[in-house]
Amino acid sequence: MNSLREVIASCLTDYDPAALPVASAQTIINGFVQPVVAMQTVPVQQALGRVLAAELISPLNVPAHDNSAMDGYALRADDLIAHAASAHAPCRLQQIGRALAGKPFNGELQPGQCVRVMTGAVLPTGADTVVPQELCLAPSDAENGQWVEIAAALTRGDNVRYAGEDLVRGKPVLARGRNLQPADLGLIASLGIGSVPVFRQVRVAHFSTGDEIASIGQPLAPGQVYDSNRYCLHGMLARLGVQTIDMGVIADDPAALRSALTAAATHADVVITTGGVSVGEADFIRSLMAQLGEVAFWKIAMRPGRPMAFGRIGESLFFGLPGNPVAVMVTFYQFVREALLRLSGQTERLQVPLLRVPSRVALRKRPGRTEYQRAVLSHDDALGWSVSLTGQQGSGVLRSMSAANCLLVLEHERGDVACGDLVSVQLFDGLV
Ligand code: AMP
Ligand code: MG
Repeated sequence: MNSLREVIASCLTDYDPAALPVASAQTIINGFVQPVVAMQTVPVQQALGRVLAAELISPLNVPAHDNSAMDGYALRADDLIAHAASAHAPCRLQQIGRALAGKPFNGELQPGQCVRVMTGAVLPTGADTVVPQELCLAPSDAENGQWVEIAAALTRGDNVRYAGEDLVRGKPVLARGRNLQPADLGLIASLGIGSVPVFRQVRVAHFSTGDEIASIGQPLAPGQVYDSNRYCLHGMLARLGVQTIDMGVIADDPAALRSALTAAATHADVVITTGGVSVGEADFIRSLMAQLGEVAFWKIAMRPGRPMAFGRIGESLFFGLPGNPVAVMVTFYQFVREALLRLSGQTERLQVPLLRVPSRVALRKRPGRTEYQRAVLSHDDALGWSVSLTGQQGSGVLRSMSAANCLLVLEHERGDVACGDLVSVQLFDGLV
């Protein structure tokens, strides 16, 4: 395993720990992550959000047979072509049977014949095209059988779904490193596969630090605040599908912090703490880390979230996040999220999409740091989708995070924003 110094040296030529750009911090962290390798097999229903540990190859063609995409009549396109050349009246075909989904027609179509088919029915032998029932004149019970009149112009293959159109036997379906989504569960099931190999879940131990931090259930002494960071972290970690070990609140006491950090590192792949990473009198994490592990302290060129520690305690990755609740969430989203996904073995969809939308407000911004404002992306007929701020932006104001549905990102080099200028946003939520 490379040392922190080697990783930093290989990532950066102009490393400045006093004002590290966000992108540089992300590069260093990524250089440090060693994805888990252990795997387990889980039933499809438990595979949502888990990371596929081996490429999935299709054992079948899906669909297994050519079949009808519509309720209608299966026919031979040659009959329509021959008819169009010889007459102007609608083409009349003799209906010789029916095929339903799961109940195929057993005969073979001869010239001039058609078969009634329902959506999903196997295409009868000899047929190559389906005409939707809406484009036929009602079948009439004439002479020797049922006759269907087709007035539509059709191209060979219309309304037919071909065998293997969805998945081809022997071909890869899903890549190793894929975070399994709802559609993937259906795809796996459509192959008749009941369980899949996934990487083991990453274990994350976390605790809050601070003499002033009280836990729920305790009375608040003067000057104390209830711990909110642990609950934000719980929510963000749960969404990422990692296993969490909640170690509570640890006082600003070097001995207690030391034993908590050591215990956390023996049980978890990742240790996350909040608070105690600035340079105040009770900020002990810095001196402890020098003894316990290999840790870089950074002042990141960002707002909020300037002070942050990152490194290793034993075999575990360590993130010492700031204390202010908004800063915790912003640094988690920008640094911890991607590291945990990579650690979980995920190789796709690692970056959060940045949308570009007009700002409804003018913003002051000086180049040289990345700013994250709590914002609301909303829609109206005049402006379309646009973004505005949630109000008070202090890094302790968690309500601004709760009221937001996105972060407005003002990039490192960006200057002031005028009303109507395009800005970047990171959405908090996906479709489900
Ligand atoms: P620190 O970096 O430890 O000085 O903390 C910065 C600010 O964040 C202080 O106002 C702390 O009271 C506050 N803070 C730290 N940890 C928490 C927490 N777990 N919940 C709520 N506020 C916190
Ligand atoms: Mg503190």
